[in-house]
Amino acid sequence: MEKIILIKYGELTTKKANRKIFVKMLEQNIRNILKDENVKIISDRVRMYIEGENLDNIAKKLTKVFGLHGIVLCYKVNTNIDEIQNVVSMILNVSDAKTFKVITKRADKSFEIPSMEFNTIIATFILKNFDRKVDVHEPELPIHIEIRKEGTFIYTNEIEGIGGYPVGVQGKGLLMLSGGIDSPVAGYLALKRGITVEGIYFESPPHTSLEAKNKVITLASILNEYSGNFKVHVVPFTKLQEEIYKNVPHDYMITIMRRMMYRIAEKYAKKIKCKILINGESIGQVASQTLDSIAVISETVHIPVIRPVACMDKLEIIALANKINTYETSILPFEDCCTIFVPKHPVIHPNLEKAKEYEKMIDFEPLIDECINNIEVITKLENNNYNEYL
Ligand code: ATP
Ligand code: MG
Repeated sequence: MEKIILIKYGELTTKKANRKIFVKMLEQNIRNILKDENVKIISDRVRMYIEGENLDNIAKKLTKVFGLHGIVLCYKVNTNIDEIQNVVSMILNVSDAKTFKVITKRADKSFEIPSMEFNTIIATFILKNFDRKVDVHEPELPIHIEIRKEGTFIYTNEIEGIGGYPVGVQGKGLLMLSGGIDSPVAGYLALKRGITVEGIYFESPPHTSLEAKNKVITLASILNEYSGNFKVHVVPFTKLQEEIYKNVPHDYMITIMRRMMYRIAEKYAKKIKCKILINGESIGQVASQTLDSIAVISETVHIPVIRPVACMDKLEIIALANKINTYETSILPFEDCCTIFVPKHPVIHPNLEKAKEYEKMIDFEPLIDECINNIEVITKLENNNYNEYL
């Protein structure tokens, strides 16, 4: 008998044509996330098995892998009644449950006893040897017995996986990652659909602090637990931002600033082979996120822009931020470049022609190139300890 982890793929099994690619990507992601563990991984069309030493720790890491439907800690035995009964006894010896149900699944039809009959055999064995009752509707202890070619797998509970598609099956997207609440959640949702996500962060030192940058890196490190190869590209945005401040009417400052961000993000996305931009814009949340603003701002780019939280309420976004553990970091007080250059009355319904007109005051193309040429790529993501602020 050995203890192993059995993984169920879930949603991706329905995508028949892509299944092979998905399973391969999933296995690669699992190997990546478990690179510090000593494990053996065996996969087939519908299941994956993981053998290793610290199974509880491994299972915990697996709860952050997209594409997993269920994670099951189980016993694997040879397919014979004695060995199966031994494990069942072992489970019952340490369980307080008063009621049980045996659920047999016979995938290996060369095993001669049909599932229903096998349920009865095991249930009879339990009733004879233990003081327990059968409850077929709401058993306290469901005993799953899966009879397969590779052996028989016995387990009692299943940890829910986070679902989605394996990160990487869709190619790469560039997330405009600020230190706020929304963009990390947007990044998480994009990862969940199988997109490899990298972050782009616009900083304007000395108007923005090193703490603000470290906060973004911390958020990236949290997203990296779901990804394994997250990078942050830091754009030195000061010069361009100061030019905007000096030359553009202040009510249009944010509109123009965001048009510049989009331009840089698009150009850089192409350079690093990202197919889309992702951001945390949420309709109506602030002046720069009205439909008119979004229209004027995104008019600058042709690359598709995905806004995963566009139609979510702030409270829904916060709930998700809490679930994925980014909220506490997001609400730390360090200012990002948007909040420093915020005008008193930003335009709520900007006009495209006006925006284009104001933009002409700045010779922005060379400044954009300068930004792109000086991007700093951060691959070592530290989760800074901010306990003193929390
Ligand atoms: P968030 O909570 O994600 O910071 P927000 O509610 O503060 O969003 P805005 O400041 O208007 O909203 O920003 C909208 C989106 O633009 C952000 O979600 C993010 O995707 C992008 N963004 C804003 N500032 C930056 C920045 N400094 N670097 C990178 N992306 C940014
Ligand atoms: Mg913000």
